Amino acid sequence: MYSIRTLSDGDFLYDGGQRIEYLPSPNASGGFARKPRFLVVHYTAGSSGRSSARWFTNPAAKASAHLTIERDGTVIQSVPLSKRAWHAGRSAWRSRDGQTVSGLNSHSIGIELANAGACVRTASGTWKNPLGVTVGADDVMEARHRNGPVWFGGSLGNVMECGWELYPQAQMRSLIDVSLLLMSHYGMEEIVGHDDISPGRKTDPGPAFDMETFRGIVSGREDDGDQFWTVREDTPGGLAIRSGPGKENPLVQDRALAPGTRVAFNEAHGRWWFVTVVNDAGEAELDGWVYSRYLNAA
Ligand SMILES: [Zn+2]
Repeated sequence: MYSIRTLSDGDFLYDGGQRIEYLPSPNASGGFARKPRFLVVHYTAGSSGRSSARWFTNPAAKASAHLTIERDGTVIQSVPLSKRAWHAGRSAWRSRDGQTVSGLNSHSIGIELANAGACVRTASGTWKNPLGVTVGADDVMEARHRNGPVWFGGSLGNVMECGWELYPQAQMRSLIDVSLLLMSHYGMEEIVGHDDISPGRKTDPGPAFDMETFRGIVSGREDDGDQFWTVREDTPGGLAIRSGPGKENPLVQDRALAPGTRVAFNEAHGRWWFVTVVNDAGEAELDGWVYSRYLNAA
């Protein structure tokens, strides 16, 4: 259970009664002129969250984020939540009230997720990011970035079809819990990716981060009730329900879920969700994994 406490040097994240690990970064400016409006999601493109948080303690980095979340869900703080971290750089976003906000560092809280980001396949079948961080094939999804090719430099140049390291469930769980707290504590308006506010220049958090789902979960859980979803009308042949997250897993039942079928969200593994099928009387019928692209918020 996370909470925020205001100390003499700013706002800090607590887990239970314990302040989370703080590796102070000099790469920050004073307090926000007004409350932060946006939550910006990043990936580190590094090997561990700790190595990134350590790098942020170096003035030469000229970069920081408020929080970094390890792949096992551990959170490290680098900058007080009430001060301006240097995570967004050149950036702009059109807010919901139609106003264009630039220089997002002055208007946002930045969270880094430990993740290798864009990778290319090596001769041995593993994947490697531009900094040489290797990722096993099981932890990679292949996709194009919606903003176009990714610059790898060297002999590779621009790469269209990249691999992207998946975000593990433990890490997503911490991100969801922390984000729910931040959004309500500071009355923040919107969640954006670095690739939303600096398109063409930045690719994080990238295609492996299911932003739509994340926004839905964070904004839909405000009442703490069950969140229901329905199978989309345009799902070809209905939605297969499987015993595990992935097409290779056997079906839980031969019959696909018909469009309009209502399900409750339990947990996510990338774009695969473990759901409970709920009948018209609101009773649980069966559990299984489905591809979340074919679900709409009910
Ligand atoms: Zn970033």
